[in-house]
Amino acid sequence: MRNVFRRFDRRLAAELRTQRKPILLGLVCVAVTSALTALTIPLTKEAVLAIDLAAKAQAGALERLALVSAAVVALFGLKYWFTRGQVYFLSEAAARLAANLRLRLFQKLQRLPISYFNERRTGSIQSVLTNDVNVYQTAVTIVRDSIDGPIKAVSAFVAIVVMQWQLAVAVMVFLPLMAAAIQRNGRKMREAQRQVQEDLAELNGMTQEALTGTRVIRAFNAEDRIGQRYAGLVETTLRSQMRAVRRLASLRPLVEFIGATALAAVLLLCGVLAMRGSLHVADLAALILAMDVINQGFRNLGSVNNTYGQVQAAADRIYGQVLDVPEETVQSPGRLRLDNPKGRIEFLDVGFVYPDGTRALEGVSFAIEPGQCLALVGPSGSGKSTIADLLLRFYEPTEGRILFDGVDLRELDVRWLRSQIGVVPQQTFLFAGTIAENIRLGAPDATDEEVREAARAAHAEPFIEQMPQGYDTPLGERGIRLSGGEMQRIAIARALVRKPRILLLDEATSNLDAVSEKAVQEALEEILPGRTTLMIAHRLTTAARADRLVMLRKGEVVESGTHQELLASGGAYSRMFNAFSSGVADERIG
Ligand code: ADP
Repeated sequence: MRNVFRRFDRRLAAELRTQRKPILLGLVCVAVTSALTALTIPLTKEAVLAIDLAAKAQAGALERLALVSAAVVALFGLKYWFTRGQVYFLSEAAARLAANLRLRLFQKLQRLPISYFNERRTGSIQSVLTNDVNVYQTAVTIVRDSIDGPIKAVSAFVAIVVMQWQLAVAVMVFLPLMAAAIQRNGRKMREAQRQVQEDLAELNGMTQEALTGTRVIRAFNAEDRIGQRYAGLVETTLRSQMRAVRRLASLRPLVEFIGATALAAVLLLCGVLAMRGSLHVADLAALILAMDVINQGFRNLGSVNNTYGQVQAAADRIYGQVLDVPEETVQSPGRLRLDNPKGRIEFLDVGFVYPDGTRALEGVSFAIEPGQCLALVGPSGSGKSTIADLLLRFYEPTEGRILFDGVDLRELDVRWLRSQIGVVPQQTFLFAGTIAENIRLGAPDATDEEVREAARAAHAEPFIEQMPQGYDTPLGERGIRLSGGEMQRIAIARALVRKPRILLLDEATSNLDAVSEKAVQEALEEILPGRTTLMIAHRLTTAARADRLVMLRKGEVVESGTHQELLASGGAYSRMFNAFSSGVADERIG
């Protein structure tokens, strides 16, 4: 048993310390209830003695029995209050522990680098916040059982020593056996639980993907295949849960069985003592009860070890997967903020290799002058999104430098840098909330007028005003559904409301209806002139509108210049454009 506490997790101890007050109150209640349980042993002895006296028709026997009965009522009355207190305070501690931990996990997730989210599945991260935290909060019961168990075992043992020391010696023989069984079980429990938590995370990951990908699954008639894969995962999870269940199921009866064997040995010894006349029937009744209380104590100690195994498995994941992961800004904690930034961007010989070893960029150089629009063109996988991610400092270049008004991005405060950039992603993400709230995500302090201005510039105002509640129309699950083009215009408004120095635009590739398409294009036409813009262009017509074009292939710049220059040079761009103009190809690129 000592082993368990020597290994006691420091992280867990710190976590429990935050809930010191309810835990301490709960523990006082636990200690009192355990002691009260042990008190039933001498009370039982007294009761049997009184009944024995009554059987012998001795005077005062009934009064004595009445006193014992009153004591029983008083004892259980007290126990009622303390058991209530125990459950209340410890459940409070567990709930607060979980709430606190979830909050910390969530806050930590907001600070983790984008690469973290690329490498993991959303559902599996969610699983840490739900499943692992749920297991983790049972840590509080460890505290309970590790107080309750020893108090019960020790006090009942003392009661036996007081009554018959010879019997206590016999009981002692069995204690190491119980301890060994408990130890072994706990170790296996930790392994089993680790597997359960991993499988649950996997299952969660797939559930989440299947839900967000429902449209694709249906469109490809993939329901059966996905269903089979899901069934496979459910089966694996079930199997690992059953492995843990077997550990859980076997522990109590095993401890109890060893306890019963001890009781049998004690009963035999009792026979010998009774023959010698040194054992009263009252002793016997108290003894049997004491053995049961010892048994309860050990069963609880067994649960401590079991639960500890489970909690450790959860803690390993909570810390290993989230809390101990290095944060975004650790790499190069720049603090610089520029006054009156102009927003000139320059990539100088930038190379980038993803953590998994994929080379995405090599020797990329270009500059965007303030007020200019630069379009990145190139087939899919040529490195366009990587350039955007580097500008946002989701990653740091592995070679070369990126300058903002001549200052290396690494020296800038990353939050300040991002506040200078308005991003319009390829796929708009709208949160549950009103239209105004969704636009205001870009600038929480924006006034109503500023929100409206941004919406107007994004050509979103006409359709917003037609909605039943205008800007206060709720979106999302229970709200109204917007068309693809409307969502994009909200996204543009969200970027504009920040009044960004730089606009980072990832053109949508999805098909919009002609009217929406036109509205989005018109909005862009109005917004782009005079605004520093880095645009990932997927259509030749959009690309042609930019002041400069950079054509990429396999992470390298193959051509750059104005639309006219590139056409005149007769390179890849001009070939693509001519094919499009003559109607041989459509305007889509990458
Ligand atoms: P584009 O935006 O032009 O389609 P990307 O910048 O997305 O191109 O990708 C450039 C290269 O980097 C590709 O080879 C792609 O497979 C790789 N890549 C993109 N994202 C990751 C990532 N998170 N981890 C590893 N490789 C990646």
